[in-house]
Amino acid sequence: MSQPRKRLVMGNWKMHGSLAANAALLDGLTSGVAAAQAVDVQLAVCVPFPYLAQTRAALADSPISWGAQDVSVHAQGAYTGEVSAAMLADFACRWVLCGHSERRALHAESSNLVAAKAAGALAAGLTPVVCVGETLSDRDAGEAECVIGDQLDPVLALGADALSHMIVAYEPVWAIGTGRTASPEQAQAMHAHIRAALAKRGAGQTRILYGGSVKAANAASLFAQPDIDGALVGGASLVAAEFLNIAAAVA
Ligand code: PEP
Repeated sequence: MSQPRKRLVMGNWKMHGSLAANAALLDGLTSGVAAAQAVDVQLAVCVPFPYLAQTRAALADSPISWGAQDVSVHAQGAYTGEVSAAMLADFACRWVLCGHSERRALHAESSNLVAAKAAGALAAGLTPVVCVGETLSDRDAGEAECVIGDQLDPVLALGADALSHMIVAYEPVWAIGTGRTASPEQAQAMHAHIRAALAKRGAGQTRILYGGSVKAANAASLFAQPDIDGALVGGASLVAAEFLNIAAAVA
């Protein structure tokens, strides 16, 4: 029998923060995390690159792990402005988001590029969190599953071993930062679809997070779904108590 999948609640700070604001947020997380640890849940934050050193120093002795929000597909070289997976590993990052919808939409990241980034992250010992999600017009056109399938295909092609060392985050674009969450049933249906695709490649136990306006008030009903293994949290991860309350909702 396979091990139960450990729940994971991960914050995505996006391009928010400052040294002072982060210090307060990180302090709130480390001082409140003991209570959340009563619940069997893993906690992590993905922060802007310049704050990795600050985050590492603040969280090193805590159960909260950290990561970045993007990574270069290149290992090194003349790629001005890019940050390699090895550089993230130098800061003891455990996680890196790959293909967040904001990067797909605003930086034209293709699904092939996202898969290549995930492969590079794995090679550097990081755990990629591959984000997929349909737009509202995709959903309204009845094409949500097809769009998610297309986004996943190059990642699935990396094979069972790679897939079993990564996380998939299902984040419907229409639910990100909008206050409009997918219903638990809508989310579960897509998670089951994604899990079936992973299972076909021999990686049915890969964890799948839901993301899109998750907050403490809606987390428990999402976490009650059998194929939802946790959450990727944007806005609500900027408030320590709210983020920890989302983690507590796993119980
Ligand atoms: C995200 O940025 O990944 C996200 C899910 O944002 P929010 O929780 O603010 O919708």
